[in-house]
Amino acid sequence: MNTEEKFKRYVLPSYGRFPISIVRGQGSRLWDSEGKCYLDFCAGIAVCALGHCHPVVTEAIRKQSEVLLHCSNLYRIPQQADLAEFIVNKCMQLPGKVFFGNSGAEANDGMIKMARRFGHRRPAADGSPRYEVLTFLKSFHGRTLGSMSATGQAKIQKEFDPMLPGFRYLEFNNLEAISHAIRKETVAIMLEPIQGEGGVNVCDPDFLMGVYQLCQKHDLLLLIDEVQCGFGRCGELMAWRAINPDVRPDGISWAKALAGGLPMGAFWTSDRSINDEGTPLSSIMDAGSHGSTFGGNPFCSTVALTVLREIVAQHLPERAKKIGPQIRATIESWGLPVISKCRGLGLLIGIGLNAQCLPTEEGKTPASIVVEALRKEGLLSVPAGPETVRLLPPLNVSDDEIEQALSIIKKTLKQFNA
Ligand SMILES: *Cc1c(COP(=O)(O)O)cnc(C)c1O
Repeated sequence: MNTEEKFKRYVLPSYGRFPISIVRGQGSRLWDSEGKCYLDFCAGIAVCALGHCHPVVTEAIRKQSEVLLHCSNLYRIPQQADLAEFIVNKCMQLPGKVFFGNSGAEANDGMIKMARRFGHRRPAADGSPRYEVLTFLKSFHGRTLGSMSATGQAKIQKEFDPMLPGFRYLEFNNLEAISHAIRKETVAIMLEPIQGEGGVNVCDPDFLMGVYQLCQKHDLLLLIDEVQCGFGRCGELMAWRAINPDVRPDGISWAKALAGGLPMGAFWTSDRSINDEGTPLSSIMDAGSHGSTFGGNPFCSTVALTVLREIVAQHLPERAKKIGPQIRATIESWGLPVISKCRGLGLLIGIGLNAQCLPTEEGKTPASIVVEALRKEGLLSVPAGPETVRLLPPLNVSDDEIEQALSIIKKTLKQFNA
């Protein structure tokens, strides 16, 4: 039985997969089982920030695997402490504490639990606990019951109802809508600085500031989902800082790029005080309140710290800040009718498509048609919503590789001029 047949027979068909089997990676390139080489501008959907099999990461994996993989959070784990210190001091640069799990959805679930507990500690005026988290249309927060319920997209929730109660979805970048929506039950506002899955929609700096001010005014938590955009991709280590450095979040979630391909998620909670006694927000998640068997184990923690240090040492956020706008400007300068607009921040880039320039195919979106055409030409990308092609190259992609990718994109998109 070949891989295709085994998938049909043994693997849950929950993904629409491209008809190739990936067998090897190096830097910004992947190879399939037929030996075809691809430029990887998907990077495991923003996971492989240092590209594939980076020597520093491979060495960290080899070394730690000979010492200790796992021991449990029953004990202190020095590598977890070192990683948390780096995230708080180097990445967040704000006092707070970190919890480690295994994925983005799980990180968001943890933040939502924290918000609900905060709603008990700081209830509504009548003493009833607050629990409602306002999120946004076209958001994506994950596939667990909690994070799916937070996600403002009907297609993600289809036939999995009832959703977890306590979420409402508002229009992104519309401050007016939020101020009307806040009510006695509301305890938090949660957003992505850039909606990745929802179409590469960048948060307005004024909107982010407005949300922050509404949170302060109504005693709400500001929760930021940086699962996709965090750790340098958007031109700063933290994407919210690339958008508006003057806001002060209460919680941040991460995953994708954090451990360079090993499964790891995390969320940070501010140490700001939540009452007159100076109780820090982070302290409400006390012993027994939350947990994860694998979360923050010595192996994933060491590798994650290696990845984050390398991102900083190689100045990769600065590089993303510089080359992202150049890539977008180049793509727009072609003036191709099929391209409506190029959006994004740093190396999270969305090429908006004009659907009328593309053929209509049963079960296919304009974005999936273009992504498949690019793949055939040797470039991997990923759709973001129905009409946007997303580019997420490794942060250390070379100038040469960018030029090759741009030439493939130009050549491929030129075909769609109907
Ligand atoms: C990918 C993603 C998630 C979910 O992460 P998983 O690791 O797949 O659970 C959540 N939020 C955002 C913004 C994402 O891009």
